[in-house]
Amino acid sequence: MRVIVIGAGVTGLTVGVRLGEAGYEVHLLARELPLETTSAVAAALWYPYRAHPVERVLSWSERSLEEFTALAGGNEDCGVVMRSGMELVRERNDIPPWAPVVPDFARLDSAPPPYGDAWTFTAPVIEMPVYLTWLRQRLELAGGTVTRMALSALPDRADLVVNCAGIGARLLASDRSVAPVRGQVVRLAQVGLERWLLDGSGLTYVVPRSRDIIVGGTDVEGEWGRRPDPTAAGQILDRAVALLPALADAAVLGHRVGLRPARPTVRLELDDSSSGHPIIHCYGHGGAGVTLSWGCADDVLQLVKDLRSR
Ligand SMILES: Cc1cc2nc3c(=O)[nH]c(=O)nc-3n(C[C@H](O)[C@H](O)[C@H](O)COP(=O)(O)OP(=O)(O)OC[C@H]3O[C@@H](n4cnc5c(N)ncnc54)[C@H](O)[C@@H]3O)c2cc1C
Repeated sequence: MRVIVIGAGVTGLTVGVRLGEAGYEVHLLARELPLETTSAVAAALWYPYRAHPVERVLSWSERSLEEFTALAGGNEDCGVVMRSGMELVRERNDIPPWAPVVPDFARLDSAPPPYGDAWTFTAPVIEMPVYLTWLRQRLELAGGTVTRMALSALPDRADLVVNCAGIGARLLASDRSVAPVRGQVVRLAQVGLERWLLDGSGLTYVVPRSRDIIVGGTDVEGEWGRRPDPTAAGQILDRAVALLPALADAAVLGHRVGLRPARPTVRLELDDSSSGHPIIHCYGHGGAGVTLSWGCADDVLQLVKDLRSR
């Protein structure tokens, strides 16, 4: 069975790997290659953020957590590391709904001022440039191909098309409910930081990687511009230094912007209503595309198997 996957971000590549390793012939087409996508900009901490509906997001996140934990414990250098860290929030509140799936989630007795609540846990940190390159190699090892191609419509010459176009689904699937939530980050030089830190109430995060630190962020709804905004960068740095004063001495290495593909709910479903071939849509992962990637890819594989057995 010949499958065309649209999109070379984390969603398309992970789906491609799952299908390729299950024996399907996979050809991935994308306007932007892996390191040029929004996925390459992600921090990327396992953390279910800005994605719905809650039940499916929890299940996909849990599945991905298992996979990333296994990858972090393996021998290959795929850019996945388990790191502990702390989330701070201004007001004492309910703990997040995903807390039970994280093995070492612990709420602090008292949060450092001015915060009202805090918890620690260990989560995968995925160094996206390394990880996306590794995923692409894994796909190619399974016989898959990756080709740069800008499409104006979904292709109609394949046994099956899987649409993982992120924000591009607005055009390709004529879906006006998928919209950009612009996110900007600053890349700093490593200063010996091991633990991530997150201010959940102000969208400030500090995520250490092997050679650098990603600090963020912004989430501007409906904004398409991909050029980094110097004012936003200054505000991100000020908030990050207030959270972690040691960052004041870290050299700025660069600025990146990505467009989160936000949608009221992630669209993961088979659409065989059109006269041509069947299409599986898998897009609209908002601020959690990395966190949901393996769970969603497993569901896509199951839909493909169901389709074959019809
Ligand atoms: C600043 C920032 C920080 C983030 N941090 C995290 C985090 O810590 N954890 C987390 O889980 N998530 C995080 N995210 C969210 C995450 O990056 C996204 O949810 C994820 O990248 C979506 O992946 P995707 O593969 O669906 O889309 P994308 O990465 O956008 O890829 C879409 C692909 O489709 C292709 N495409 C689109 N239209 C067409 C067309 N017409 N023709 C051909 N190809 C097309 C594109 O070229 C691209 O290859 C963050 C996002 C941002 C911006």
